[in-house]
Amino acid sequence: MNFLEERIVKDGIVKPGNVLKVDSFLNHQMDIRLMEEIGREFKRRFGHKPVNKVMTIEASGIGIAAFVAREFDVPMVFAKKSKSINIAGEMYVAEVESFTHKNKNQVIVSKNFLHADDHLLIIDDFLANGCALQGLISIANSAGATIEGLGIVIEKGFQTGGQIIRNLGYQLESLAIVDAMDAETGTITFREQK
Ligand code: 5GP
Repeated sequence: MNFLEERIVKDGIVKPGNVLKVDSFLNHQMDIRLMEEIGREFKRRFGHKPVNKVMTIEASGIGIAAFVAREFDVPMVFAKKSKSINIAGEMYVAEVESFTHKNKNQVIVSKNFLHADDHLLIIDDFLANGCALQGLISIANSAGATIEGLGIVIEKGFQTGGQIIRNLGYQLESLAIVDAMDAETGTITFREQK
């Protein structure tokens, strides 16, 4: 088990409805030393790529992406969730359905902060059905930016997102892939990774 898998086993809680709660160390209270390690691990996996910007989506991607951006020494931009509809023109817009809240949000990135010459590393905390990543990919494509790779902290391998994104041909790196989890026993099974 790697450092993240060990932490998930120690402090993660399996909830009914295929939800893994990791809010004691990842997306509510944050273990900053763990964030640093996550940042370094993504640098190790994507450091050979010409990344000039890290992109994520609010809210829980922001803290993680900040540590990744620090490792690459580049800016980080996050897609904001927005209710207003009259923003096309100055903003790149995509529609994202939330896995945890089951509602749809428009997400926006200002055209001031995303350009055709950007080389992006896209980061998020979880990958489930892939809606959040597809929204970010769509925004990157609207800007004509290059996607150098996508980094996920926890992929739920029994949901469809990972396969969808890998089938698009991107380098997708997940630090932990959960292949099965059981809310009754609390058991979590990880995919063997190189
Ligand atoms: P997707 O768009 O891939 O279906 O879901 C990804 C988003 O939903 C992530 O940004 C994450 O915030 C949230 N999410 C999905 N599954 C889980 C989960 O099991 N636990 C938590 N805490 N968040 C999740």
